[in-house]
Amino acid sequence: MSGLGGLPPGTACGTAIDNGPLPQIKGLMFDVDGTLLLSDRSLGGYQLLSGAAEVLTALRERNFPFVLLTNGSNYPPAEQAAKLRGSGLPVADAQMITPSSVAAEHMARRGIRRALVLGTRGVGHALAEAGIDTVYTGEPRAAEVDAVYVGWHPQCGMKDIETAAQAIWSGARLFSASDVPFFATRQGRTIGYSFAIVGAIRRLTRAPVTVMGKPSLHALRFVARRLGVAMAHVGVVGDDPIVESLMARRGGATALAVTTGTTSRDEWLRQPQQRRPHRILTDLREVLTCACGQTAA
Ligand SMILES: [Mg+2]
Repeated sequence: MSGLGGLPPGTACGTAIDNGPLPQIKGLMFDVDGTLLLSDRSLGGYQLLSGAAEVLTALRERNFPFVLLTNGSNYPPAEQAAKLRGSGLPVADAQMITPSSVAAEHMARRGIRRALVLGTRGVGHALAEAGIDTVYTGEPRAAEVDAVYVGWHPQCGMKDIETAAQAIWSGARLFSASDVPFFATRQGRTIGYSFAIVGAIRRLTRAPVTVMGKPSLHALRFVARRLGVAMAHVGVVGDDPIVESLMARRGGATALAVTTGTTSRDEWLRQPQQRRPHRILTDLREVLTCACGQTAA
C-alpha cells in the first residue's frame, strides 16, 4: 500500500547532512524554477518536475500550510498562480508570492508613496495595488520618487538606468526584486535581469540596495506571516544554495535541497555552513515525510 502522494511507507526525509534532529516544520515554502518546474524560455511554457503536482495536492488535502515564492517578478501573483494552475499545480492566488508582494507591503509600511519601477507592468502591479503611486521611465516626473524598484526588465535601456540614478541622487532609496545572477530553465542558466540592472545603478550611485526576494529576511518574514507560523518552523524547499538555503539558514528555518535545478548533489555537499541544507532530497515527494512524518503511510 502506498502512502501520501504515492510515497512508499517508510520513505525518509532526504539525506541528512547536518547533525541533530530536523526542526519541526509547520509550514512549507517552495521555490518555483528548478524545484517545481522548469520554464521553457523559447516556448513560454512550463515543464513540471517529477512529484510537483502530487506533493502540492497531498499538502492541500491535509490542509498543511504551503506557499510558493518565486524571485520572478514579471507577473502579478494572481496571474502567476493562474498560469501554474493551468500547468497542473494546485496553487491558490494567496499562496503565490513574488518579490513584488514583499516590496508592496514593505514600502507601504515605511511610508513610501511614490516609486519608479524598472520592470514590466507586472513588476509594479502589486505596488500599485498597495496604493503606491508607480511611475515608469519616460513618464512625467519619473525621477521624483521615494524609491526605485528594480525587477524583471528584459527591455531595460540606458534611459532607465539614468532615470534611476537621478532619482537616487535626489534621495530615493533603491530596492531590488532579486539579487541572483541566474536561475534554472530548460535551456540552462538564464540571467537575472535585476541583478545586472542593479549592478549598473550601483556603479553610478554607490547606493545600498534592499533586496525584497530571496535570500532576504524580508522575504522569509513575509512567508512566515503568510503561512501563520514562526520563521523557525518554516521548511524552505529550493534548488539554489545562495537563494533558498542561505535564506533559511539566516532565519533559523529548515533548508530542504532538491537536485533538479542549478545544483547537483555533490555541489550541495560542498556548501559552507551558512548555506548548507539540512537535508538533500532525491525525490521531491520526500518533502511529505519531512513535513507530515510517517503518519500518512
Ligand atoms: Mg530555483
